[in-house]
Amino acid sequence: MKLIKQLDVILLLLWCILSLNFIENINSGIISRPHNLSLCLSLIEGPVIYQNPNDTLFQSLIIDQNIRVNYTPMVLVFAIDNKDVQKAVKCAVKSKIDIVPQSGGHSYEKYGLGGRDNVIVLDLTFVNGITINSETKTAKIGAGNRLGNVYNQLNQAGFFIPAGLCPSVGIGGHALGGGFGYYSRKYGLACDNIISMEMVNVTGDILQVDSIKNFDLYFALRGAGGGSYGIVTVSTFNEVGPSLDDGIALKMKLNKSSLSITGLYLGPRIEALNAMEGFINASNPISKKFIPQTFFESVEKLSKQSNKYYVVNPKHNPNFFKAKSFFVNNGEGLTQQAIKVLVDFLNNATCAVLASFDLFGGAVNFYDNSSSFIHRDALYCIQIESDWDTKEDNTKCTDEINRFGKIFQLFTSYESYQDFIDRDLDDWQTRYYGGIFERLVNIKRKYDPKNLFNFPQSIPIG
Ligand SMILES: Cc1cc2nc3c(=O)[nH]c(=O)nc-3n(C[C@H](O)[C@H](O)[C@H](O)COP(=O)(O)OP(=O)(O)OC[C@H]3O[C@@H](n4cnc5c(N)ncnc54)[C@H](O)[C@@H]3O)c2cc1C
Repeated sequence: MKLIKQLDVILLLLWCILSLNFIENINSGIISRPHNLSLCLSLIEGPVIYQNPNDTLFQSLIIDQNIRVNYTPMVLVFAIDNKDVQKAVKCAVKSKIDIVPQSGGHSYEKYGLGGRDNVIVLDLTFVNGITINSETKTAKIGAGNRLGNVYNQLNQAGFFIPAGLCPSVGIGGHALGGGFGYYSRKYGLACDNIISMEMVNVTGDILQVDSIKNFDLYFALRGAGGGSYGIVTVSTFNEVGPSLDDGIALKMKLNKSSLSITGLYLGPRIEALNAMEGFINASNPISKKFIPQTFFESVEKLSKQSNKYYVVNPKHNPNFFKAKSFFVNNGEGLTQQAIKVLVDFLNNATCAVLASFDLFGGAVNFYDNSSSFIHRDALYCIQIESDWDTKEDNTKCTDEINRFGKIFQLFTSYESYQDFIDRDLDDWQTRYYGGIFERLVNIKRKYDPKNLFNFPQSIPIG
């Protein structure tokens, strides 16, 4: 708890610094921007920072996870609560300038910045409350929280929610696109565990969204919700735990020179030994070690953070990358030819490439038609990622992985994962949303008929 309080103080200080800077910018008059917009945004309580090439602060506040793509917003609005979000949406509509929500800034294509220049970015970093209700076993989580902090706070109350592992990913964008990790086979996706949401819509009103109120939106937001329908400020999640049942989770990583499998077993040591016996006998490992850990210790270990501080207060690791995702469905598997194509690519690619296999099944594959995450028949999800060191290699490495993607998709199911968003994906509408796409378009028309909330791969109005 002490750590959290210290963090609050740091955030408050940052906010004061940002506010001061805003005033300086206005006074220096360096920035050209629509006058009615700055007047309107001056009513926002949180910091509002305008684009200014001479201001290093503005640039430093842009979350730069993937430096392959870069966009410059007109203004960064750091909302502190629902009211700020409502005001910002109204200002955007009034000034006819696009507004884009950003939570953790980890979109592979920088869609948290809109995927284009000169938009209003509504950053939710300070909408970061977490209220845990131990009786109902639910947690109300502000969209601006990063996964590391969510895990830490829930852990202190003996709970967790299943989601991805990278501590700096934002719960906001992550859960709206699905959100899977080591705990999903047992407990489902992050979006499966959302029971209600508050969303600021296109008119700046707050909508309560759950399985009864605005069910159509509840369906759309849980899987296709990132950036298309409105700004989700808080979500209430079903928590799981504190006693963990059995359940295996695996991730396999493969590159030119190595193959590694990282596993996790949710349950007591003796059950883990029994469950893993067949697997260990078949793979004949050089060494085997079973390390009993609490849930939070496993997050620290698997996310490869050197200590707990960096889980709670994660750093971004900017790099140049491009990724593609594929699903292999139950009963299908990869053919020998597909494996050869993949291995040849990993061996011969000129840029550094890595294939990760995330095991699906279990609770992830349970589908009750209440979410827009359709990839429920998958045996595993494959992510192929290319990384490089300098801007000069952008085109070469992007083209290389795009070419491979076109070939490899012939060997896998037709689907791709919307949280691993890919601007160059063909027929992304069907690959991300399958047969429900038209339904999502109809819901979009109802809630955002003028397409205020948009980015290059958002749900369109028609
Ligand atoms: C290093 C890294 C590790 C990852 N690990 C995993 C993993 O283990 N499992 C997994 O499933 N995915 C993983 N991802 C993918 C990740 O889930 C997506 O990139 C996700 O969209 C990031 O959410 P964000 O809030 O951080 O990003 P942002 O860039 O802020 O947002 C992503 C999209 O959602 C929209 N959005 C953001 N917040 C809101 C909101 N509050 N309301 C409405 N729309 C919103 C944005 O406009 C944007 O279109 C990883 C990504 C990275 C970069």
